[in-house]
Amino acid sequence: MISIQGVVTGSYIIAIVLFILALGGLSNQETARRGNWYGIFGMTIALVATVVGFVNPETYPILLAALVIGASIGLFAAHRIQMTQMPELVAVLHSLVGIAAVAVGYANFMGHGGQLTGVELTIHDIETYIGVLIGAVTFSGSVIAFGKLSGRIGGNPLTLPGRHWFNLGLLLAVIWFGYQFVIGSAAGTGMLPLLIMTVIALVFGIHMVMAIGGADMPVVVSMLNSYSGWAAAAVGFMLGNDLLIVTGALVGSSGAILSYIMCRAMNRKFLSVIAGGFGTGGGTSASSGEQDGEIVAIESEETAALLLAAKEVMIIPGYGMAVAQAQHVVNEITKTLRGKGVNVRFGIHPVAGRMPGHMNVLLAEAKVPYDIVYELDEINDDFPKIDVSMVIGANDIVNPSAQTDPDGPIGGMPVLECWKGETTIVLKRSMATGYAGVQNPLFFKDNTRMLFGDAKDTLDAVFKAL
Ligand code: NDP
Repeated sequence: MISIQGVVTGSYIIAIVLFILALGGLSNQETARRGNWYGIFGMTIALVATVVGFVNPETYPILLAALVIGASIGLFAAHRIQMTQMPELVAVLHSLVGIAAVAVGYANFMGHGGQLTGVELTIHDIETYIGVLIGAVTFSGSVIAFGKLSGRIGGNPLTLPGRHWFNLGLLLAVIWFGYQFVIGSAAGTGMLPLLIMTVIALVFGIHMVMAIGGADMPVVVSMLNSYSGWAAAAVGFMLGNDLLIVTGALVGSSGAILSYIMCRAMNRKFLSVIAGGFGTGGGTSASSGEQDGEIVAIESEETAALLLAAKEVMIIPGYGMAVAQAQHVVNEITKTLRGKGVNVRFGIHPVAGRMPGHMNVLLAEAKVPYDIVYELDEINDDFPKIDVSMVIGANDIVNPSAQTDPDGPIGGMPVLECWKGETTIVLKRSMATGYAGVQNPLFFKDNTRMLFGDAKDTLDAVFKAL
């Protein structure tokens, strides 16, 4: 006879394999869609197996109601969210994982019912304490990240005097209250230290993300992604659910790897990003008087003529392409130019846009062929051979001051060196700065032309002229 427990365990193993295949699929654009399907199948199997294996059938109506409400909110949000709001949505979803871990931790603490004693109880309490700790940090950090990404909170890093001592103080307090919690738990006095630690963890999450400035935000996004995974793994330990432990660890470690990749892409040390204080606010107007040189504007017709006369064209998309939703016309222009024998390639900076892979998603949506889309490392040496670089709504990722001003907010960050080519055409609406709030000397270079206007409108006109 096959027991229900056996079927559940088997289903969990299948779900875990599917999650690993999903992560493998997502690492490459051509297999990303398949990867998503693996993830969907895995999650469906996991949900059904958990409900059948662990939930008392008497509570099915409550569970069903919760599922319907949750799924409806999810569907509604997914339909309403614009592509440009995706990073904020991701931050909100991370915050939900965090608050869920806190809720499970409290329920678990209040509900252990005294069945556990001795070492088992201590281990259980430590699991609960760590779960609530990671969950609370993830929750408040994600809420602040949401505020920063949506522009509700300014991008300037909050640099409190003695902030490292403050953080150290919070850490020591967390350890002290952890001790109080574990010794107080059996005696029924564990609730107060748990509550105090939750408040401390919430404050720490807020302070940690507030201290991280403009251009370093990509690392925060991937780091909170990682934390949400560890929070889920902690819930798995609390509930004794192997699937949650493995899935949480997968998310946690892939988020940590992503944070490392983002740090490397920005030439930052992970610890110094977390310690905060880099970068400034985003998107302010900059006075052109700060720069030497003149701005030379160009019109769409001239842009089309330059593109047609070129042999090698590099397109550099940035956040503004997402705002303008210009990716489809970019693809049309690419097709037309390639049809006329122009070699068109795309140069993608790892932190372009507002979330990891943002530009790749947009270009894939517009069906730009993958084989002409290159990473910064692959393409940066080719710029001296490029006739025309078209910078579409990008700013920080093509800012030469990253190299010339090492102490500036983006100092040391690798950038796409388009100014080394014959001509650069920058498409943007004004002289406003990018996310990191730094003026861009590229706009004032002799071989740069500015095509002002919403990128979708100007590119439509370029396409018409082509
Ligand atoms: P930036 O934010 O540096 O610049 C975007 C530019 O697009 C702006 O200067 C803006 O200028 C222009 N723009 C906005 N809307 C339009 C429009 N409709 N049409 C034409 N232009 C438009 O973006 P980049 O992609 O160059 O750099 C990304 C920045 O975001 C980096 O600093 C990165 O650290 C940060 N970041 C990245 C995250 C990630 O995970 N990728 C997450 C969080 C932050 P104007 O207003 O004049 O039009």
